[in-house]
Amino acid sequence: MKLLIEGKAKKIFSTKEKNTLVQYFKDDATAFNNKKRKQFKSKGILNNSISALIFKYLNENRIKTHFIKKISEREQIIKKVKIIPLEVVVRNYSAGSISDKFKIKQGKKFKEPIIEFFLKSDELNDPFMNSAHIKLLNIATAKEIRYLRKLALKINVLLIKLFSKIGIILVDFKLEFGKSNNAIILADEISPDNCRLWDKKSKLSLDKDLFRHDKGNLINAYEYIHTKLNRKLNV
Ligand code: UDP
Repeated sequence: MKLLIEGKAKKIFSTKEKNTLVQYFKDDATAFNNKKRKQFKSKGILNNSISALIFKYLNENRIKTHFIKKISEREQIIKKVKIIPLEVVVRNYSAGSISDKFKIKQGKKFKEPIIEFFLKSDELNDPFMNSAHIKLLNIATAKEIRYLRKLALKINVLLIKLFSKIGIILVDFKLEFGKSNNAIILADEISPDNCRLWDKKSKLSLDKDLFRHDKGNLINAYEYIHTKLNRKLNV
């Protein structure tokens, strides 16, 4: 296997097969555009399992994704796609950057989900983009943007339902999509690294905010999410 890309939390390797890749989960955590960094022993193992469970659930619910199979503690086989350089954020409750930007109290439930696009660019600090910006930079066509919104909302409905069953509020999350034979499919990962997950009763964070704001034990929270999801989905 040849290392193709090393990101902040994952590595991508080539395989013998030309249409597949290996996605490897590291223990590194970063926040605030790489300004804050730390390693958490076993985080990669937990995120590989959590993301595999969620992608399998989405595949079974007719969402096309890049996920094929988990093959080891830290690795999964994925379909090779060309990543669309957008972070598609879906928000159900106020938190994080939307609360800071508009001075909205954290934890306010939105009447309908809010979708935001950000350009994937460390250099530019992931700037916010609207549809006109996306078209201007030739990242996606108007039709593709509409499809991305539709898919993101569909995934949101499925994830709200799944997390609700294990006593968790899905506050917000980030998706990435890729193109494979001109079809847009879900890529990257879905884990507590890129979702805000609050315990329904206590409203305590069970996600990367524990690291961003030094609010508690990250591994314990990720283990809790993993155990609950595994019990719900592997019956
Ligand atoms: N998010 C992410 N990667 C990023 C930025 C955000 O996975 O580069 C996720 C984040 O974990 C949260 C959601 O997207 O679940 C919304 O993040 P927000 O815009 O509030 O930014 P933050 O305050 O987390 O930097």
